[in-house]
Amino acid sequence: MTSIFTKIINGEIPCHKVAEDAHYFAFLDINPVAKGHTLVIPKKEVDYIFDLDAETLSGLTLFAQKVAKGIAKVVPCKRVGVTVLGLEVPHAHVHLIPLNSEADVDFKKPKLKMESAETAALAREIQSAIGNLQ
Ligand code: AMP
Repeated sequence: MTSIFTKIINGEIPCHKVAEDAHYFAFLDINPVAKGHTLVIPKKEVDYIFDLDAETLSGLTLFAQKVAKGIAKVVPCKRVGVTVLGLEVPHAHVHLIPLNSEADVDFKKPKLKMESAETAALAREIQSAIGNLQ
């Protein structure tokens, strides 16, 4: 069965995209735990991140590094944290979350509510920051 993330990549489900190349895709999480919470995925649909082939897994890390640098330029934070859960969506992904304290990465707390226009503007800003990286 096609994952919801593959449908996002194919444009069948909308998302707030921040980056894409031939093999990877990044977009804002629909239920962010912090402003700028982004998901980075391989286009190849594999459920469990550690079942990815070595090349795809290392490429995902390098792509996530670029995305994290873009996020940090837009969202004030001490650093961008990386979390892997994968309990909900069976398509490998990493969560990039701007952190100012440990509490920012608490998935049990109420999710952030953001207006759609604000989310769209944030995605555009992060996309542009990634595009401007050296
Ligand atoms: P997990 O698989 O446990 O890492 O969680 C999946 C993550 O995907 C959650 O943080 C969801 O909020 C997020 N998510 C699920 N559907 C969408 C969607 N359509 N667009 C953006 N994020 C999503």
